[in-house]
Amino acid sequence: MAFADKDDVQRLQDLLEGAEDVVIFTGAGISTESGIPDFRSPGGLWTKYKPIDFSDFMASEEMRRESWRRKFAMDRTMATAEPNRGHRAVARLVDTGKVSAVITQNVDGLHQASGIPDMQVIELHGNATYAKCLGCGLRHELDPIKEAFLADETMPICAGCGSEFMKTATISFGQSMPEAEMARAQRETLACDLFIAIGSSLVVYPAAGFPVMAKQNGCGMVILNREPTDLDQYADLVINGEIGPTLGDAVAVN
Ligand code: NAD
Ligand code: ZN
Repeated sequence: MAFADKDDVQRLQDLLEGAEDVVIFTGAGISTESGIPDFRSPGGLWTKYKPIDFSDFMASEEMRRESWRRKFAMDRTMATAEPNRGHRAVARLVDTGKVSAVITQNVDGLHQASGIPDMQVIELHGNATYAKCLGCGLRHELDPIKEAFLADETMPICAGCGSEFMKTATISFGQSMPEAEMARAQRETLACDLFIAIGSSLVVYPAAGFPVMAKQNGCGMVILNREPTDLDQYADLVINGEIGPTLGDAVAVN
């Protein structure tokens, strides 16, 4: 396990001190310390499941069934996860007024659970803690869907419009990105003077386009990740360390 050295933490503190408007961008890496596996690390989700593409989800009832099976098989981890030191450090930065927005690829809701107002969390890939009807957009809570599905694999049907195309409120591979969130993320990225990417392998586009956009706009950039990323060459500071201890020390949060 790599820990950031004191100089790195100091440089991060200096950059934060000198910045006026910070945007924080997070990926699955910030939630691994809460027990939610990421996609690409050893033991990560991709070693177990190949993601279901949106077109396959739409085309096949069996794929929709399989996606609920997977959801509820790993739901215990997601449903009981709590924010960790990294989330708390980000929440503290938001609280000081320095961070205008947290753009996240995560679907676990842990930034909101750490106390950051919903308005300041921009979820690029949606949220897996509730479901949405693809027909009419109505929100559905997971508990009743889960109970019926686990009893005899009853598939949910939308009470609003009768559609059988119900899905966790996440963005699948091949599904179009949420327009409002993309627009807000772009606005925030272009307005900030320091962009900090945390716990993302920065290979999933269009999400990974935001750090590139920030850099092209002349803004400072920090990358905090356990291992190198594709965008390290653009960063003013790269910290290869564990997120909770590094951010916790930098912001003095336990
Ligand atoms: P990823 O799995 O591609 O990358 C995570 C990165 O974080 C890796 O480079 C890994 O080395 C690093 N990392 C993991 N734990 C760390 C730690 N404790 N300290 C420092 N670095 C750590 O994740 P991604 O780039 O976010 O993309 C995967 C996609 O999958 C996302 O877009 C998201 O939609 C989805 N996803 C979300 C969750 C979640 O909501 N928690 C979990 C898995 C996947
Ligand atoms: Zn509906």
